[in-house]
Amino acid sequence: MENRNIYIVRCGEVALKGLNKPYFERMLIERIRKVLKPYKETEVRREDGLIVVRTAPDLPKETVIREISKVFGVDSISPAVETETDMEAIGRAAVAYMQQQIEERGIRTFKVEAKRADKSFPVKSPEIARRIGARILVECKVLKVDVHNPECKLYVHVRKDRSFIYERKVSALGGLPLGTNGKGLVLLSGGIDSPVAAFLMAKRGMYIEAVHFHSYPYTSERAWEKVKDLAQVLTDYCGNIKIHSVNLLPIQEQIVQHCPEEEMTILIRRFMMKIAQRIARETGSLMLITGENLGQVASQTAEALMVTDAAVQMPVMRPLIAMDKTEIIDLARKIGTYDISILPYEDCCTVFLPKHPKTKPKLSAILESESRLNVEELVESALKSVETTEIRPK
Ligand code: ATP
Ligand code: MG
Repeated sequence: MENRNIYIVRCGEVALKGLNKPYFERMLIERIRKVLKPYKETEVRREDGLIVVRTAPDLPKETVIREISKVFGVDSISPAVETETDMEAIGRAAVAYMQQQIEERGIRTFKVEAKRADKSFPVKSPEIARRIGARILVECKVLKVDVHNPECKLYVHVRKDRSFIYERKVSALGGLPLGTNGKGLVLLSGGIDSPVAAFLMAKRGMYIEAVHFHSYPYTSERAWEKVKDLAQVLTDYCGNIKIHSVNLLPIQEQIVQHCPEEEMTILIRRFMMKIAQRIARETGSLMLITGENLGQVASQTAEALMVTDAAVQMPVMRPLIAMDKTEIIDLARKIGTYDISILPYEDCCTVFLPKHPKTKPKLSAILESESRLNVEELVESALKSVETTEIRPK
């Protein structure tokens, strides 16, 4: 048997895809290859209905697991041992595996479970488990069987050419492979919510591009660095992310001059959406994505969301809409964006924050206020200020 580490990768929903399954699997394998590319001698292949990864023996298992578990579409990963498909070879490999566990972890109890994927194999699953268990008992004198709470639960997966032995099943993120669901443009602030929203849409297979609005020089260079840092964390899951940055200051100044103060927030949000929609159309994004959440702040009441939505014709995805803040924070921590998000740099929206923002804006009143501005021209000139930066996985 060749001297490489082996991992079995299971896909979750990808397996339900019927006729499209080969396409989803191909995309998944491509993604796994991509995240493992920096490590030499790795090989990712589809074998007999499973995705099998082989790596150099000195590449730490935890590294491989960490990398693969960030790939959307992967349900779980198991470091495994490969053997020939015959009872003698499987038994020998199982004993060697257990001896190693006794040495390294001091285990004393075990249990064997078997699954026969190859139905032409002459021994049935319960009998495979029984015989392998019996051989382990004979050759590893310190071990006892414990069917309820074993320290080591060994799975034997019998397949046509090669069989696998494994113990751990590390769960991954699930979802669908990146790129299987088009591209979306996230409105990425420096806050907690929008990076989580981007993550959730990417998890459903969507490539992510971002637009960030600033009010330079009222907002600082450090606020911009923070947004790039957030995108950097997201690239671990989403691959390359382009950020289009737009200066909103000229628009904010016009609103301050011509419109009621309490409408500032909703008006600026409508401008953001309009500008984002234009960028999305020009760069091939099918939808906008925001971190809005029902009732979280004045601009996110049902009425305000309705008025915001009416600014654009493109679908607006709000994956956090019904989540509690605590759930969003938990997820932000898990992804690794939280600690960056809470750094205290000003956002463009806080620059002209009204004392009493309207919580129940009326579309007719907002349209009336907008009629005092040259909306089209302001959008056009904001688009001229766009600068694009591409962030790549480290
Ligand atoms: P977040 O934590 O994502 O900043 P929030 O709770 O602070 O969200 P708002 O400031 O009302 O809420 O923003 C709602 C959504 O609007 C954000 O989730 C984001 O998608 C978008 N947004 C807000 N500010 C900006 C900005 N400066 N640049 C790009 N998008 C923004
Ligand atoms: Mg915000």
